[in-house]
Amino acid sequence: MRRHFERALVIGGAGFIGSHLCERLLQRDTQVVCVDNFVTGSPDNVAHLAGVPGFRLVEHDITHPFADGHGAYDLVVHLASPASPRHYARLPIETLDAGAFGTRHALELAESHGARFLLASTSEVYGDPAEHPQKETYWGQVNPIGPRSVYDEAKRYAEALTAAWCRSRDGDVAIARIFNTYGPRMQADDGRMIPTFIRQALAGEPLTIQGDGEQTRSVCYVDDTVRGLLALADSAMPGPVNIGNPQERRVSEIAGQIRDLVGSTSPVEYVPAAVDDPRRRCPDISLARGSLNWYPEIGLREGLLRTIASIRREPVVL
Ligand code: NAD
Repeated sequence: MRRHFERALVIGGAGFIGSHLCERLLQRDTQVVCVDNFVTGSPDNVAHLAGVPGFRLVEHDITHPFADGHGAYDLVVHLASPASPRHYARLPIETLDAGAFGTRHALELAESHGARFLLASTSEVYGDPAEHPQKETYWGQVNPIGPRSVYDEAKRYAEALTAAWCRSRDGDVAIARIFNTYGPRMQADDGRMIPTFIRQALAGEPLTIQGDGEQTRSVCYVDDTVRGLLALADSAMPGPVNIGNPQERRVSEIAGQIRDLVGSTSPVEYVPAAVDDPRRRCPDISLARGSLNWYPEIGLREGLLRTIASIRREPVVL
């Protein structure tokens, strides 16, 4: 059932997923205060919302407490964190701080306003999973000191803090474990698979596949992810709940499909796999399906066409 939120604080709202979430909340007549320090996001992502009544953008780093004297919130969403391997390799301490201090400040703010709190966690908490597909009950297999650990462990800590807040302070909290999401407004050069392949295919450059391309990913179009986040916010569930697309694909298959949709003749080039890169990643979404009545609706072809069109700055032709 849909709740009505009067006023939401979206931390990390000028990022890829955050900007889409701000849009959807405004469409639901929720006022939105978007807080961001633009470390990986940009005001450009929400520039089109600048004139929309009820929308406000505030530059702030959530690793420091945020005090807003402008009114009450009934929803606080914490999305603030570098999210691509390239960004968190460049910003290791900032990433740990966003998960630790950022989550603490966001939880305190939600508590002081009596707001529902939603944490954007990640499938990376499962690490290189030994169980497949991943259910929320799986505890994961994470290297605590490897190059990816700054992100994985920050999110695991953020989950632990959120769960403790729920148990010990009766907080109204929810944890979403988001799996790979793609769509318009991803940065073409942040190193994530889909925008990288699209950029390379459009430029006629080789599509660089890390490893042998047999590793699998499950990719979810951003509109579906945002619908899932809102369904969880609307519910009373604390989570964690997997939000992702369970259609598992080989990386080489995704690269080939992008090349075909772009109409490119780019060759494929295999480069060494990233350290601790998971071989398989696929969500079990029975919990979200059964309890939130949520499941992805946008197929890979349509999602890729929308994303390609946005990078080309052309209307979508489905
Ligand atoms: P993004 O980098 O586009 O967005 C993150 C936003 O947070 C950016 O605008 C950035 O400037 C902001 N930010 C970072 N640190 C901050 C700080 N200290 N204070 C204020 N703002 C800060 O990434 P995204 O893909 O939109 O991811 C959003 C969230 O969803 C992240 O928490 C990420 O871990 C999670 N997530 C994303 C995916 C995905 O596939 N995109 C998958 C799993 C989880």
